Amino acid sequence: MPVLNHLRGTSSAHSTLHTPSDAFYSAIAQMPLIDNHTHMIMKGYSDRENLHASFSEAEGDARDDVKRALAYRRAVKDLATYLNVPVTEAAAKCIERAKQDEQAFARDMIKASGVSQLLFDEGLYGDFYPSSWHDFLAKPHKRILRLERVAEDCLRVLALKDVTATTGNLVSTFEQAFMAALEPDASVVGYKSVAAYRSGLEVDPNALTNNAVVGAIPGILASYLGTLSAQIASGKASGKAQPPRVRVAEKKFVDWIVNLGIRNCVKHGLPLQFHTGHGDTDMDLRLGNPLHLQPLAKAYPDLKIVLLHTSYPFCRESGWMAGMFLNVFADFGELQPFASRDALAVALRELLHLAPASKVLYSSDAHLYPETYYFGALYFRDALATVLGESIAQGDLDESEAVEFAELICWRNSARIYQLKEWA
Ligand SMILES: [Zn+2]
Repeated sequence: MPVLNHLRGTSSAHSTLHTPSDAFYSAIAQMPLIDNHTHMIMKGYSDRENLHASFSEAEGDARDDVKRALAYRRAVKDLATYLNVPVTEAAAKCIERAKQDEQAFARDMIKASGVSQLLFDEGLYGDFYPSSWHDFLAKPHKRILRLERVAEDCLRVLALKDVTATTGNLVSTFEQAFMAALEPDASVVGYKSVAAYRSGLEVDPNALTNNAVVGAIPGILASYLGTLSAQIASGKASGKAQPPRVRVAEKKFVDWIVNLGIRNCVKHGLPLQFHTGHGDTDMDLRLGNPLHLQPLAKAYPDLKIVLLHTSYPFCRESGWMAGMFLNVFADFGELQPFASRDALAVALRELLHLAPASKVLYSSDAHLYPETYYFGALYFRDALATVLGESIAQGDLDESEAVEFAELICWRNSARIYQLKEWA
């Protein structure tokens, strides 16, 4: 009765429930990590009254409720262990010690995360320590260029030069500036788009030839430059000039610059990351479902696409995409430390429903505060040990296979697709 024996768990390979060994857990705890999507530490971060912003993307009163969330209560206990203080004092001590020396506190906490290399998205606006400040890890940092931010910077430069008044062909002037800014130096290993935040992930793969898109670009460019010129003029008039800034969110324009960016990605063999799923309230989450990227994944088979942020709550969709398309990769990141212990294990399991381990990457999406780097790595390792440990227990993986899966997810896949020479 082989079928009955199989169901009873008495067929050969599944005959005993295997408890993962200490060696397996210590392999996961010590494994090198490449964080394929992170941001820099904010200057002056230590000037704060509580830790809520590290554990919730919500804003205002909605954020204050985080102190009653599972993820926050869990993290405070682990923070107490890290700081070697009672749980009741952990949050206050964390703030106090950072105030004493915010750079040393951040550096120590990032080191304690055990991460080996950070790939920075430098596209956030704000006052940050430069990416080179973070070079105290095993491998030097690398950079990811955010397409929308590069476009906004180019528009600002053109507005400051008053290009509208002097150029005959605004589109080609912008296009040349944009493509030149995207040319990678040795530190650039990939690109990113936040189309999900701006006009949605349903990016037209034919935007460069679609007449409705191409025909609209001159007017959109003129309008952005008009907005910037007005800001410059009012800054001059008031004597309080701020750097002018425009937020590119017109769908036709976003689709157009993403397709221009893709040309550059394919030319250099570098991946394009997309924000997918959960983010702050700035976005319409319905437009962040990675399934919207199917036409793009099909139209550009030579483009490596990374679906960032576990695509939460669309984790199964992300795993499906990574499983079905040779050129699509599913990132596990950003959920930790916002989501509960259970949510992190469920999300990783759901990615791995269909995605092979060779298609899943690690990131923290850590930003601004040192706790986000520390808990990003700690809670990822915890979820990875839980999920792979279950497969060992069930007999689906032996320990050496589980360690092989972990190595792929922790660093081998990122080293390969971002062409990180330090790992060769
Ligand atoms: Zn991010």
